[in-house]
Amino acid sequence: MLWMSKWPGPWPVYVKSAQGAHFECVDGIDHVDLCLGDTGAMVGHSPPATTAAIVNQLTKGITTMLPTEDAEIVASLLAERFGLPLWQFTLTATDANRAMIRYSRQVTGKSKVLIMDYSYHGSVDETFATVDDEGKVIKRRGNIGAPVEPSLTTLVVPFNDVVALEAAFSSGDVACVLIEPAMTNIGIVLPEDGWHQALRTLCSDHDAILIIDETHTLCAGPGGMTLRDGLEPDAVVVGKTIAGGIPAGAYGMTQQLQDRVHASLTLEDIDVGGVGGTLAGNALSLAAMRATLGSVLTAAVYPDMILRAEEWTSGVQSCLSDLGVPWQVTQLGARAEYSFLPHSPHDGREAAAADDFELQQYLHLHALNRGILMTPFHNMALMSPDTTQSDVAAHTAHFREAVESLFL
Ligand code: PMP
Repeated sequence: MLWMSKWPGPWPVYVKSAQGAHFECVDGIDHVDLCLGDTGAMVGHSPPATTAAIVNQLTKGITTMLPTEDAEIVASLLAERFGLPLWQFTLTATDANRAMIRYSRQVTGKSKVLIMDYSYHGSVDETFATVDDEGKVIKRRGNIGAPVEPSLTTLVVPFNDVVALEAAFSSGDVACVLIEPAMTNIGIVLPEDGWHQALRTLCSDHDAILIIDETHTLCAGPGGMTLRDGLEPDAVVVGKTIAGGIPAGAYGMTQQLQDRVHASLTLEDIDVGGVGGTLAGNALSLAAMRATLGSVLTAAVYPDMILRAEEWTSGVQSCLSDLGVPWQVTQLGARAEYSFLPHSPHDGREAAAADDFELQQYLHLHALNRGILMTPFHNMALMSPDTTQSDVAAHTAHFREAVESLFL
């Protein structure tokens, strides 16, 4: 992949094997993995219950284009967590987002997708947009072969900016809002008081579908921030770790939205309608999801994961405070991130402005050379159920050494 060449150092580390919160590289060196496949392995590498279910399913058929019993069980596990009754499956979170955008356009008859500036939702065309200094929607930097000008498909507002949100809705053409409940792809930007209420109200007032992408924020609790904070989306998207790393994504919707979808489609039309894929909902992904959601990423494992993230955050914070370094660290459930800003960011643009690629590469390479893998391209650490206090302590000690090398 393109991004593998962007990891710190002249080449990526090659992995021999991974288990729990650690991996061993081909040189036989053990690493604490704080990246965890950028959330794909948040449940820890190869959790025994998931691997047993995968091995079992491998002998019983991998894909048939028919549902297995697991489909109903997984849908009910997701329904319990997110409070949405109806679920469909994809192979990735990207695909789940694409499907929800299509359903939103279908039922509202409107065309625009409203996103947050500097958000990321996978390789979804409509989301590779930002705004210029005059507020005009333009292609985001690095947007490869954009099919059309994003201003035709997309509205962009800063996270936490209710005034800008209201102004964007005044166009009258918003089919959906696609949003992470807290931004996690440009550092962590937490929602301010009133933000989610404003989103919900404006979406309802303007008949726009509110899609909450919980792919990363599932780190906040078993039902993501939707359950934790009592959010009321029309649709939720999840992916990455829900099948322990086996390709799987899912989107859930309210009964009301499902009724609108049904009313707008006929049976003959649902074959090649732009939603889904041949392998979506395959038996292997569903078996892996059932085991992972049912037996691995249960409510019981969250308190310890969150405690580890608290320890990581306070390790970073005490180093910054002791040395008087003007950086900040933000925690969201089992995830935490520091950035080169003196205070926590209020929106994506502010978070992006603090980016310093060279400094980040230095810190990541320093950690990597001491057996600690950080999430690339930002300074993020994720805790799995297998991450231990001593894994966190190793980061705390080496981080202090790296920061001292820069500031003392
Ligand atoms: N949604 C969010 C919030 C993400 O962070 C990502 C990937 N980082 C995706 C969707 C897409 O996930 P995938 O690449 O697995 O499709």
